[in-house]
Amino acid sequence: MLRLEGVTVRFGERAVLDAVDLDVADHETVCVLGPSGSGKSTLLRVVAGLQPADAGRVLLGGRDQSGVPPHRRGVGLMFQDHQLFPQRNVAGNVAFGLRVRGTGRAESERRVAELLDLVGLPGAQKRAVGALSGGEQQRVALARALAPEPRLLMLDEPLGQLDRGLRERLVVELRGLFGRLGTTVLAVTHDQGEAFALADRVVVMRDGRIAQAGTPLEVWRRPASEFVARFLGFDN
Ligand code: ATP
Ligand code: MG
Repeated sequence: MLRLEGVTVRFGERAVLDAVDLDVADHETVCVLGPSGSGKSTLLRVVAGLQPADAGRVLLGGRDQSGVPPHRRGVGLMFQDHQLFPQRNVAGNVAFGLRVRGTGRAESERRVAELLDLVGLPGAQKRAVGALSGGEQQRVALARALAPEPRLLMLDEPLGQLDRGLRERLVVELRGLFGRLGTTVLAVTHDQGEAFALADRVVVMRDGRIAQAGTPLEVWRRPASEFVARFLGFDN
């Protein structure tokens, strides 16, 4: 589904992504872990086409994406900071992706209700997004990202502001949902429990490079370096 070949992004002198190679198979869920500033969000932005690469290639379904604009890539991205449309209510935000796809009104209303149930905001259609809490906004953003059923769904800290109970419930439901829809997922999280529950494979980043990639069990059992072991909290 997704392949990165030697993808490099520089800001000034610094390579924020440094020759990153990564393959994500169809229907696979990959979680990206790593310290703040290690390049996780930049990685998602390059795949989405929002950040040009200085070197290397991004392929989706075997096709080189250089020059392909974000809306033509068939990928969904939920941003770390939500970026909801403040002038639209909850339903307007969630339905945005459906309208782009030309879904009819009745079908769209049904899907919005379904998605709001899923994220634990049943009946919130008419609420103003500005009046929602951070966690509620995050759930609306998640519903909006899921709405168009993109071939590759990218989530940047999708559950970061939610309390533990809701997070644990959503992780289980999302895993089921991705399985049913056959969605390929690339998700950034700082929560190891979440990554290990959600992912078929985890990728640990350090300073713009992949320090280790493997199944959660492999990475957890055999950290490839002192850095990974420390990051996973094995130093205590
Ligand atoms: P966090 O966990 O805090 O979200 P991250 O791993 O997502 O971190 P990125 O947002 O990818 O990190 O940023 C990686 C590095 O690139 C950071 O040091 C950041 O300051 C830098 N960076 C990101 N965007 C830009 C930009 N537009 N201009 C200059 N530097 C940038
Ligand atoms: Mg980030």
